[in-house]
Amino acid sequence: MSEKIPVGILAATGSVGQRFIMHLVNHPWFEIAALTGSERTAGRPYGEGVNWLLEGDVPESVANMIVQPTGPDLDVPIVFSALPSGDARELEPQFARAGCIVLTNASPYRMDPFVPLLIPEVNHDHTGMIPYQQKAYGWDGYIVANANCSTTSIVLPLKILHEAYGVESAVIVTMQAISGAGYPGVPSLDIMDNIIPHIGGEDGKLESEPRKLCGAYADGAFQFADFAVSAQANRVPVIDGHLGSVSVKLRRKVSAQEAIALFQNWQLPEILRDLPTMPDPVLIYRPEENRPQPRLDRSAGNGLAWTVGKVRECPVNDIRFLAIAHNTLRGAASGSVLNAELLVKQGFIKR
Ligand code: NAP
Repeated sequence: MSEKIPVGILAATGSVGQRFIMHLVNHPWFEIAALTGSERTAGRPYGEGVNWLLEGDVPESVANMIVQPTGPDLDVPIVFSALPSGDARELEPQFARAGCIVLTNASPYRMDPFVPLLIPEVNHDHTGMIPYQQKAYGWDGYIVANANCSTTSIVLPLKILHEAYGVESAVIVTMQAISGAGYPGVPSLDIMDNIIPHIGGEDGKLESEPRKLCGAYADGAFQFADFAVSAQANRVPVIDGHLGSVSVKLRRKVSAQEAIALFQNWQLPEILRDLPTMPDPVLIYRPEENRPQPRLDRSAGNGLAWTVGKVRECPVNDIRFLAIAHNTLRGAASGSVLNAELLVKQGFIKR
């Protein structure tokens, strides 16, 4: 690609926004051209307004950029959105209507019947919905959504099992990092020395999003996967990395060895192989009985890989496993950038 594509980051000052900055600052295809923030930071240089949370300093190339208010006059063809859900619900369609491509991390449009809920390794063909979305809503642009970070942590191994054997039902328990709640997030006196067994709306997202992601797309319609999910989400005192414990009932009996071999031999779909930030491997199986762990495994593949372990037969269902993914990288900013790379490859983003 000769010239980079200018992109904007909406809510660039938040936890996910900062991850976007770091992931895009040296990207070979995209160039940060606009940053937005709330009324608190709009009009100020990014480096002054942001409460920087990551290692190192604010990158020089963005430190002096003036944070702009969020509106569709932002003069960029693509925006990566890390807006809070209320703002996203109102503002993202305005961008799409104005002809902008919106890659969102927020929840309001994830289950929209015309919006692809996209994780390239899971359902790259769901982007076929884009022209139908534009027609249905009369937009020149479009919205593509990321999954919730907890759904993301378990969905690739779940999809692989579903494709091979058919999932009949799944019981999911998550142990989710505090950064999943944004900044400043959960008060330290609530989470230290503790586990909080409630994350607003999360059980419902875990019960619906995997069915859309693992389902089929054809001729302008998503067909949800026909399995049931029972989910319980927990907030644990870990900074980054959501760990999910999953027990699945399958449509045929499978040994643990077969399931392990399935994960070890899984191949990345051809279309994804040369995307610039796709890690190799993107699915890692760990045989040790004490893996995966957030501190040891969340950063695998630059924070884009899934690590799966403890794949065993289940005395109640058929197969159980643990999986982890980095919530603000794979489950948010880096996942969104990978979605954009796929859209370029598929021709939905023009060079
Ligand atoms: P956060 O740390 O609380 O940051 C939210 C940011 O939004 C704040 O920095 C605020 O900016 C900004 N903001 C508020 N209203 C705005 C507006 N109208 N225009 C521009 N910026 C505005 O939250 P987060 O964790 O980054 O989450 C962002 C979104 O990603 C949410 O929808 C969340 O559900 C989703 N998400 C988060 C994760 C995760 O692991 N954290 C994972 C997946 C998805 P100022 O600093 O300028 O006031």
